[in-house]
Amino acid sequence: MQQKWQLATQVIHAGREKNESGALVSPMCQSATFVFDSAEQGGARFAGEEQGYIYTRLGNPTTAELERKLAALEGSEAAAATASGMAAVSAALLANLSHGDHLVASNAVYGCTFSLMNSQLSKFGIEVSLVNFSDEAAIKSAIKANTKVIFCETPVNPHLDVYDLDMIARIAKQHNLVSVVDNTFMTPLLQQPIKHGIDIVIHSATKYLNGHGDVIAGVVCASHAQMEVIKFEVLKDVGAVMSPHDAWLILRGLKTLDVRLERHCHNAQNVAEYLAHHPKVAKVYYPGLKSHSGYRLLGRQMRRAGGVIAFELQASFAESIKFVDQLPLFSIAVSLGDAESLIQHPASMTHSPYSDEERSRAGISDSLLRISVGLESIEDIIQALETGLSQLP
Ligand SMILES: *Cc1c(COP(=O)(O)O)cnc(C)c1O
Repeated sequence: MQQKWQLATQVIHAGREKNESGALVSPMCQSATFVFDSAEQGGARFAGEEQGYIYTRLGNPTTAELERKLAALEGSEAAAATASGMAAVSAALLANLSHGDHLVASNAVYGCTFSLMNSQLSKFGIEVSLVNFSDEAAIKSAIKANTKVIFCETPVNPHLDVYDLDMIARIAKQHNLVSVVDNTFMTPLLQQPIKHGIDIVIHSATKYLNGHGDVIAGVVCASHAQMEVIKFEVLKDVGAVMSPHDAWLILRGLKTLDVRLERHCHNAQNVAEYLAHHPKVAKVYYPGLKSHSGYRLLGRQMRRAGGVIAFELQASFAESIKFVDQLPLFSIAVSLGDAESLIQHPASMTHSPYSDEERSRAGISDSLLRISVGLESIEDIIQALETGLSQLP
């Protein structure tokens, strides 16, 4: 029945089950453990002979509702709710890589995903090659006999580059690799990688899925076979599972995901077009602009261009910092997908540990700024930017 529903209906209804009290909103099950009727029943649950909850690290009714909903939205067989987006990335990779294996990933990835691959996985003898995922030949030539996983996120910071999911899924199938895509910037309402043949989708639910900036959480969506390892081996033993309270908040946030994204995308498109015509703005990176390289994949793999924009000012490092400090309305913060419009300056914040050379290689200029366009009135957002830009020398 759920397959027939539109995604806007599924965010509200998918995964719900009747509860004993008849409450419209599923009650939060804030319990660490579950009581067995008898020792025999406990034994049967541990042996997998009887369905039922045992202990919240292994499963919980509230997180299970969220998992059913996200699996329905992404079109996967199953999902696992995790303690953070990074726990989701870690679980997907740890489940599919062992000592001596190799991983191919895009050279632009979320900062902690980069350090997970380079600092943590490398300790266990897992090798990584980072290549430009816009270049099919570069990906193919990075694949070796011991390559097991191909990983990317799209669109990706700092320039909102968009990678072709059909092409990545095709390469993965040809070389027998597990493909993993971080879908945080899009959500399943704007992009469904599994429909393009990707094996595993991960999210930072901290961002749009929850949408209210009050939870750190993640999710992995994949097949039952993958979930046997991701959830019942890796997450069980590593322990990075989501709390039922966070799952309950995300279930609440998800109900408005469709209407929120409608506004985020509308506002971001307007802001991107406004910035693109402003004389104090040197360049705008947003896949909703015809001038952006990702525009060709809009409609094919992304329904809309999302709510995150990067742009460069005609300004120095110091002037860019001053612009951020003086900008009305926007909060100076990393993260994205919240109701509030946020701004950050990568050169002094997210990418400050980089050397000057690494920064320029990654294309992080002194005046590059990233905004997560919020849900405020578009008139007020544009007015705030107008005020800020008019104060530049
Ligand atoms: C925020 C983010 C993460 C990490 O998520 P946390 O919930 O902060 O652990 C991973 N990938 C992307 C694209 C993100 O934006």
